[in-house]
Amino acid sequence: MKAVRFYGKDDVRIEDIEKPSPKTGEVLIKIGGAGVCHSDLHIIHDGIPGADELTPFTLGHENAGWVEELGEGVTEYKKGDAVIVYGPWGCGHCKPCQVSSENYCDYQSVQAYGGGLGLNGGLAEYMIVPSTRLLVPIGDLDPVIAAPLSDAALTPYAAIKRSLTKLTTDATVVVIGIGGLGHMALQILKSVCGSTVIAGDISEDKLDLAKKHGADYVINTTDADAAEQILKITGIKKAAVVLDFVGIGPTIALGKKVIGLDGDLTIAGLGGGAMDASYGQLPFGVRVSTPYWGSRAELIEVIALANQGKLDIAIETYNLDKTKEVYDKLHHGKIIGRAVMIP
Ligand SMILES: [Zn+2]
Ligand SMILES: [Zn+2]
Repeated sequence: MKAVRFYGKDDVRIEDIEKPSPKTGEVLIKIGGAGVCHSDLHIIHDGIPGADELTPFTLGHENAGWVEELGEGVTEYKKGDAVIVYGPWGCGHCKPCQVSSENYCDYQSVQAYGGGLGLNGGLAEYMIVPSTRLLVPIGDLDPVIAAPLSDAALTPYAAIKRSLTKLTTDATVVVIGIGGLGHMALQILKSVCGSTVIAGDISEDKLDLAKKHGADYVINTTDADAAEQILKITGIKKAAVVLDFVGIGPTIALGKKVIGLDGDLTIAGLGGGAMDASYGQLPFGVRVSTPYWGSRAELIEVIALANQGKLDIAIETYNLDKTKEVYDKLHHGKIIGRAVMIP
């Protein structure tokens, strides 16, 4: 079968490998769609720290498709069931894993943590999932539409849930970066809270997408007075929550300027920007966090939201052979919403 393999820094090859077969407890998934994510670019350019011995492996950590074959002992699914694959694979036994938060597995620092992230992922015709606990049925959703929800919707959903008590109807939330995650965040906010939503991006195309998905205000963050424009909307109390899906120096600086007292400054983008969080640098009480992905239970909630028709994910679909070109487009900010590869 065809697969997109990561061999090491800047070395991605599309090649034929043997179709895997599931061992005891495992499930073989026929991939319907695999989302391409900015974190793939980080893996390709920087590698996964400490995971050199895991290469080569198949990329793709946003996967959905159909159950193809069951390993011994698996009875919960049957061939043809449509499923989405939960991305961050923990040990399955520690306390965070027991409460479904495998994204915060105690052993994350010492083991490969998911298909496409050190183990074989879904940029291929088939993929092995080690346990049925990592699958969520998607009902009538198209796997091509569902695949990117496993990260592009789950990550913002979990970030928003952390701040839900602050997202009251009199509050303002600022979403920075209207890419794959940001445009999902806007729709999730519209479904789960009544706060005023301000969207910021450097691209007018993406601000148009933000308007389409319910942003109450859009701000071009390249404007020298972007912070002042936001503060004019929020008034003296400033933003209750900032969700930064870029995470570079300028977006973090903008978040710092607009976050209010006791607010949540959430940096979910992997841009690598730094901030000074010492006293006097932030309003009192601000919580800065860098959440990672979401829990299995939250993925079930995301799929429920999608099944209610409340998540309209913008996708561009491509054949697997085009993966390298898609990485290049993504690198240059040329993908609107999410690119999904179809084997
Ligand atoms: Zn991702
Ligand atoms: Zn664990």
